[in-house]
Amino acid sequence: MTVEARNLEAQYVLEFPGGYTRTTGPVIGRFLTELRDGRIVGVRTAEGRTLVPPLEYDPATGDAVTEEFVEVGPAGTVESWSWVHAPRKAHPLDRPFAWALIRLDGADSALVHVVDAGDVKSMRPGLRVRPRWRAERTGHITDIESFVPDVTRIVSVVRSEYVVRPGLALARFLEGVAEGVFVGGRCGSCHKVYVPYRTTCPECGVAITEEVVLPDTGTITTFAINNLPDPRAPEVPFVSAYILLDGSDLPMIALVGEIAAHEVRQGMRVRAVWVPEEERTTSMSNIKWFAPTGEPDAEL
Ligand SMILES: [Zn+2]
Repeated sequence: MTVEARNLEAQYVLEFPGGYTRTTGPVIGRFLTELRDGRIVGVRTAEGRTLVPPLEYDPATGDAVTEEFVEVGPAGTVESWSWVHAPRKAHPLDRPFAWALIRLDGADSALVHVVDAGDVKSMRPGLRVRPRWRAERTGHITDIESFVPDVTRIVSVVRSEYVVRPGLALARFLEGVAEGVFVGGRCGSCHKVYVPYRTTCPECGVAITEEVVLPDTGTITTFAINNLPDPRAPEVPFVSAYILLDGSDLPMIALVGEIAAHEVRQGMRVRAVWVPEEERTTSMSNIKWFAPTGEPDAEL
């Protein structure tokens, strides 16, 4: 005779709807009494460790614990956790939460409790948490409704408005930029050419009086690949670079465009790309960016 295997199943519910009453004993009783009063205590073992929640016997040695209770926490540190995506009817929260092992400050063992972190991404080992107490406490572990993460960050909206008035030198440089040229200054003493134009030589300290108009070609000396968007940049990632204009002795900083970021290199020859004449103002935004000229790389 053959017996056909069938998938049999039946659903059971184990429930004590009214609950059942048990006595706590002195150790657990003390813990629950303190909870009712808004404190968390642990018990000292003969070896001096603090067990939270308290136990009547030290699990490490089997010896009875001492009668010394010490207040711990209330803050603590998450050691490990299990995330509950879909809480069930009897779960303490009706939204996703973590069951976590929390070591309260001053304790040598960890307590299992709920962490109301909002999102699984907020959970990590070492997360600092503290209890959210119920308003009405009865002497039960649920007197702590849940633990919640410490506040470690806030979002501040920043906006500032200000007017910049360029000094004489920058004003002269921006006048040049409005016409699509780079105005630099040559030091009469050391003969170095500075772009943007400046009124004194930083090396000699003498006043610069000679203006020089430089070509809009140059060489990339160093550069950075940026992965955060910038409203002026052509795309992300984009490159900002120090560009030594031909005839200048100090590089100026500018965007690099019309080339993939990973193809930019030191020594690359570039030329300024200006916005159309009718869109120009007396600002640096007249220079869209520098684009490769296609010439062979320069020696640095
Ligand atoms: Zn000088």
